[in-house]
Amino acid sequence: MKYMAPATLKEAEKLKDSLKKSRYLAGGTTLNWRSAPEGSPVIDLKNLPIHGIKKKGSAIEIGALTVLSDLKSSPLIPAGLKEAVGMFDALNIRNMATVGGASAGAFFISNILPVLIAYKASAAYYFNSRKNTMLLENWLKEKKGILCSILITHPKRRVYAAQDKVAAIDFPSVVTAAGFNLTSGRIKDAVLAVSGLSGKLQVLTDAAAYLNSVSAEELDFSRLNSIVQESISPSGNVKVSARVKRRFIEKQIREILDHIGRDSS
Ligand SMILES: Cc1cc2nc3c(=O)[nH]c(=O)nc-3n(C[C@H](O)[C@H](O)[C@H](O)COP(=O)(O)OP(=O)(O)OC[C@H]3O[C@@H](n4cnc5c(N)ncnc54)[C@H](O)[C@@H]3O)c2cc1C
Repeated sequence: MKYMAPATLKEAEKLKDSLKKSRYLAGGTTLNWRSAPEGSPVIDLKNLPIHGIKKKGSAIEIGALTVLSDLKSSPLIPAGLKEAVGMFDALNIRNMATVGGASAGAFFISNILPVLIAYKASAAYYFNSRKNTMLLENWLKEKKGILCSILITHPKRRVYAAQDKVAAIDFPSVVTAAGFNLTSGRIKDAVLAVSGLSGKLQVLTDAAAYLNSVSAEELDFSRLNSIVQESISPSGNVKVSARVKRRFIEKQIREILDHIGRDSS
């Protein structure tokens, strides 16, 4: 297996462009899962200046190579994201998996991604010899270049997540996160994102529009649930059927509405 560890973003991109079938390596938990590293040559990102958690004005910048357990211990990380890391059972994975790998990778379930989307986080990335920033939700559509950092530009948003598993030591089956601002009992700027329904993370725009159209007091669980159920087409697998996933998300929405109710009272 060919292995390289470039020292600059420019060099890393050049290698990636010139070496067929090469893959970037971060924590390696997905790339090394169940077999020898998937992809060769491997371009290790470890020497790139994309480590650490910093405050940048009112935003929090999380370097792509930050491991998930460091999110839990940093005083800069907002509560909703810390809780999402806490839902992640496998301690050894938490100590190796990076924020960049959790975002850029294509693992079939994520505790972290729906929460970052609910924060309306942005992605700083390096592509075509330039650094750019865009909403993470948009970056995920094409995943261009090297993800350098995640920017939480609205750390004060209220963000709640809920998950369900078929067994205590298993991966989560479905994870739902909601983010919003609450001003004088009105929900504003809501985002609802779900991981685990099918391959890709799903952002539920109709459900968010409903949340934005009512006050916290007027929120109607049945109405929200029926909008959500109409917007999703979960796929089942050997462990959990599509029907069970629908019941999981229904339960998770109820949990999230309980949080909104408590916040507004
Ligand atoms: C046993 C096990 C249990 C798990 N349990 C959970 C769980 O409970 N909840 C959960 O949410 N997830 C879980 N995961 C998934 C885990 O979150 C991901 O495997 C991890 O986040 C990937 O990060 P990494 O740094 O290890 O990425 P890597 O494996 O190094 O890379 C993953 C992919 O992302 C690309 N990549 C990595 N960094 C960058 C970057 N900066 N820019 C561009 N591309 C990049 C790589 O090229 C590769 O394609 C589990 C995984 C395993 C193996």
